[in-house]
Amino acid sequence: MQTKCPISTALSKDGGFRMIFLNSTAAVEELRSIHKLSRTMTAALGRSATACAIMGKMLKEEGGSVTLRIDGGGPAGKIVCVADSGGNVRACCDNPSVELPANALGKLDVGGAVGKEGSVYVVKDLGFGEPYVGFCKLVSGEIAEDITEYFTVSEQTPTVCSLGVRVGQDGEVRGAGGFILQLMPGANDFITPIIQANIDDMPSLSQLIADGKDADDIFKYVYGEVEYSVLERAEIEYKCSCSKEKYAKALLSLGSQELKEMRDDGAPAEIVCQFCNKKYIFSTQELDGLYNQALEKAKRLNAEENADEE
Ligand SMILES: [Zn+2]
Repeated sequence: MQTKCPISTALSKDGGFRMIFLNSTAAVEELRSIHKLSRTMTAALGRSATACAIMGKMLKEEGGSVTLRIDGGGPAGKIVCVADSGGNVRACCDNPSVELPANALGKLDVGGAVGKEGSVYVVKDLGFGEPYVGFCKLVSGEIAEDITEYFTVSEQTPTVCSLGVRVGQDGEVRGAGGFILQLMPGANDFITPIIQANIDDMPSLSQLIADGKDADDIFKYVYGEVEYSVLERAEIEYKCSCSKEKYAKALLSLGSQELKEMRDDGAPAEIVCQFCNKKYIFSTQELDGLYNQALEKAKRLNAEENADEE
């Protein structure tokens, strides 16, 4: 099965208009099969994960990550996506099986599932120092408009975000992808309306992708007569970074009391990763080891505190 998704960056010749386009079809299909998503939730989570992957790719810092959380108060519950600085992405949501009738336009009702009484939260961890946290109120819950609003309001960067997921009647993903176009400082004022008109005239993005159009075709639609060059071509995939060590750390953070209770239960603890469904089993022996580590840590902290008081 194809799992790699092409992601490309192009810049207008004047340096003012940067665009990243991702064909996320394979990643969204994997997302659907991992979480057994309904058709509506395939579109909701697929759009969100596509945007998050592009936002990851926009990070300059290697080893950084972006977390996109959308909480609109609708039946879908919370949507959480995480991407690394290469654009590799993972995602999950509270209610993967939510299905709604088509909206007034005859489309999958993503806004109805997500809701619009809430916010978009973005956490950028650059791998050093305090993470950057930004948010904005949701506009429609349709995701693309909400991401555009986020960049405009929270990062004060004029942005166009377009996202699309085409889902067949059988639930399979026929085409998925998106782009984020941003105005860089010093962008030529004459070009903005040309590009805006090109985007307004474009056919549906998910249909173009389902029809086999690639990054070069999409760049041509958007830039039109405006000269541009392709800066980078890379690949991303649906990728979870979980490991037994990471979950051991999470268990450790529960503290000694909780770990003691788990160990005394006498049964192994089973943890399922919410992003990839991988199962991790901790034997009672391992739980005992973690309990002892937590005790040691508590003792050490206590000693340090006492030392501070003297
Ligand atoms: Zn995982």
